[in-house]
Amino acid sequence: MRLLLINDDPVRRHQWQDRAACHDFGSELFFESDNELRVVRARREQAAKKVCAMCPVRRECLRFAESGPEVFGVWGGTTQRERAVRRRRRKRARGASGRGRGAGGAALNRRTAELR
Ligand code: SF4
Repeated sequence: MRLLLINDDPVRRHQWQDRAACHDFGSELFFESDNELRVVRARREQAAKKVCAMCPVRRECLRFAESGPEVFGVWGGTTQRERAVRRRRRKRARGASGRGRGAGGAALNRRTAELR
């Protein structure tokens, strides 16, 4: 049900969402509540990740969560913070690969990113 709440337009909905293992779980397992204690959040995220670990569309879900603007909650077996770390690492790696190429390095990196 959780994914339907995010994108309930049947035209825009992604087909992989029909096979999501989280269909029968409430969104409160995947999303943080107001003033959630750190220890409670850690427990909840671990439980959500267990559901994701059994999910047949985990890869598609993670790709979706990482393909756009910041998405809250657990997606594809990762927390929001974990995806932020992954995003920073990718950004850093792209920056490092452009060093030493002169002014064209940044442009090349940008074009490479556009092609992905
Ligand atoms: S990977 Fe997790 S959040 Fe994504 S569809 Fe599967 S169960 Fe739901």
